[in-house]
Amino acid sequence: MNGTRVAILSVGDELILGQIEDSNAPFLARELQRIGCMPGERRTIADDRAALAQALRELIAGNDAVIVTGGLGPTLDDITREALLDVIDSGKELQQDPAGIAHLHSWFAARGREMALSNLRQALRPPSARLLANPNGTAPGLAATFAACHVFCLPGPPAEMRPMFTAAVAPMLFDAQSVVLTAALHTIGLGESNIASQLNELMDRAREPLVGTTASDGVITIRVRATGTATAARTALEDSIRIIRERVGDIVFGRDEETLASSVGALMLARSLTLATAESCTGGLIGALVTDVAGSSAWYRGGFIPYENARKEVDLAVNANTIIAHGAVSHETAIELARGALARTGADYALSTTGIAGPSGGSESKPVGTVFIALARREGDVLSRRFLFPGNRAAVRSRAARMALACARVALLDDASRVLLWSEAEAIRVERC
Ligand code: ATP
Ligand code: MG
Repeated sequence: MNGTRVAILSVGDELILGQIEDSNAPFLARELQRIGCMPGERRTIADDRAALAQALRELIAGNDAVIVTGGLGPTLDDITREALLDVIDSGKELQQDPAGIAHLHSWFAARGREMALSNLRQALRPPSARLLANPNGTAPGLAATFAACHVFCLPGPPAEMRPMFTAAVAPMLFDAQSVVLTAALHTIGLGESNIASQLNELMDRAREPLVGTTASDGVITIRVRATGTATAARTALEDSIRIIRERVGDIVFGRDEETLASSVGALMLARSLTLATAESCTGGLIGALVTDVAGSSAWYRGGFIPYENARKEVDLAVNANTIIAHGAVSHETAIELARGALARTGADYALSTTGIAGPSGGSESKPVGTVFIALARREGDVLSRRFLFPGNRAAVRSRAARMALACARVALLDDASRVLLWSEAEAIRVERC
């Protein structure tokens, strides 16, 4: 990576106090690598003019560029402009910028709102700084060069900061000679060590591009990072992606922003199929994952949350005797839930979950983490699998929801040949649906 070293400075009491998560700094760190810069240092400072000025001085001295986010609003606790003035135009006053005032007037006029006088503060800038246009909000950004260091001050709200970075900052810092490109392939169905052994020498830490894995809620993500000139890095990245796909095959359900639910949706759409859900222990998490996907109404009919036994019986026609004989958490109940969802919605596929998410309710034969997931298919069978998920209540529920979608995906792919994690799981198959 080349030497354009960039510091990231997040400003705001709410960040220091832990009231909100800093999402600006990680975004900037990722984007900087993409354009060939090195994120060199990251700091968080309260809404304090002297402290911010001091941090700015230190970061300017140690970096080629500094990107500040936050503190550009109209209120008196927004002190980024003043702190920048103290550093780059010490002893001088902030100036009104005519273009900034024009922007504020047209912003408020377009929305039919009165502009508060305090908003005029946002058209102020240190004499040697220039304004960066903000099409998504009232606060313009600021840019200045001081002591051979580029300083950028961007608004705090991510929806304003991100487009401003892309439009005004990235082109200035872009270094075509040393970009860092990353890609992520998401998989489900195999464990991390199993995937690692298939990737084998690709995961050598000295290899370029670098390949690594991360795990989250049963989803193993293979990450690739390529460094070099823009074209060389792109070619190397895509070559690695191709080789990885050849090795791990269709357990890869998506790349980058693609999700398990969106991959199930694409397979459903391609075959004009629809899905329904009956979620006891996951309480709607599958439905939430599915409806996160834009356009899911084309393939998702909807779902039930049959939490108490009466709802299982009344809403989904689960036989009371099934629950008495086998328990609400059982293959038999899962199968009847899935069948019920199929019958009640007219969908082609139905997923059901019933389990013990904890912390209480476990027993020796069905410990906390036990979840039965059934998939019923209109033109086929009903298959229930028994899982034992590790972790606390949230982890068990989240893993169960993802595993349910994975079960649907594998059924859609019709690939019984592959040995996956759950091949060893206890399963019951009922031939006729
Ligand atoms: P505004 O005109 O909205 O006041 P501003 O530039 O003054 O803009 P701040 O007041 O610092 O920005 O932050 C406004 C809001 O933007 C915060 O309440 C928070 O919701 C969001 N925000 C600020 N900084 C960050 C950050 N680092 N990560 C995520 N969100 C942030
Ligand atoms: Mg503010």
